[in-house]
Amino acid sequence: MIATNVSDTTSLPPLEVARITKRFRQGNVTVEALRDVSLTIGQGEFVAVMGASGSGKSTLLHVIAGLTRPDEGRVLVDGQDLSAMSDRNLTLFRRRRIGLVFQAFNLIPTLNARDNILLPLLADGNREIERSHLMDLLQRLGLAERYRHRPDALSGGEQQRVAIARAIIGSPSTILADEPTGSLDSVTGQGICAILQQFCREQGCTIIVVTHEPAVAVWAERIVVLKDGRVLTEFATERFRDVHTLAAHYQDVVSAASATEVQG
Ligand code: ADP
Ligand code: MG
Repeated sequence: MIATNVSDTTSLPPLEVARITKRFRQGNVTVEALRDVSLTIGQGEFVAVMGASGSGKSTLLHVIAGLTRPDEGRVLVDGQDLSAMSDRNLTLFRRRRIGLVFQAFNLIPTLNARDNILLPLLADGNREIERSHLMDLLQRLGLAERYRHRPDALSGGEQQRVAIARAIIGSPSTILADEPTGSLDSVTGQGICAILQQFCREQGCTIIVVTHEPAVAVWAERIVVLKDGRVLTEFATERFRDVHTLAAHYQDVVSAASATEVQG
């Protein structure tokens, strides 16, 4: 049974990633993109995943979204075990419970902003939403004057706000964002972080943001650092005064891990 509406997210169990391993085979070579990764993320928590390119960040997000099936381990979202679901149920579950935001926005070029936002609801058997809910969302994302425009007439920041609106219109319990500010200038990127944080707080949404930018990660409550497909460390952001001390700490943990590697 998959509930359609998740307006009350307060009582949902934490998101559990339990001992996930994911391998990719290319010819004779096998890459272990994730190695025995475990995480527990509380409902309503805002977590950033950091790590060098190739450390497994996107793979982790895709596994949590049910877009990629792991070779080992389990993922529980809202208490439901994704590995036990058929492909069809997984698709339904993702559509209703998970909001996805990508670096490249992934908007449909031939649809205007409003229709891009409504598309997941159409795909889900034309799920009704109140017109006032849509207008309220557009207003709050600063898109009230822009929703009749197609993506190519919108700025990068506006396109990403459309993508965020599309991700949250169905009231998901969980938002997964892969480098959502990666193609935006830093001021626009900070605006996107503020919007994500605000929704996390108001709607009780869990948010997992993949980023390599400390200025983005500092918006999260907790940072998980991946290295070579493993969780290297995690730490709370409240320890840090500002983004510079956080960036310095991040550099320290990554460098310390590399130094150990060279010695060992
Ligand atoms: P990140 O997002 O941190 O840059 P990824 O999760 O994209 O890292 O990739 C982790 C590792 O898995 C990399 O070595 C990458 O080349 C490999 N990988 C990811 N996706 C695939 C795939 N579909 N096929 C083969 N290898 C992949
Ligand atoms: Mg990636």
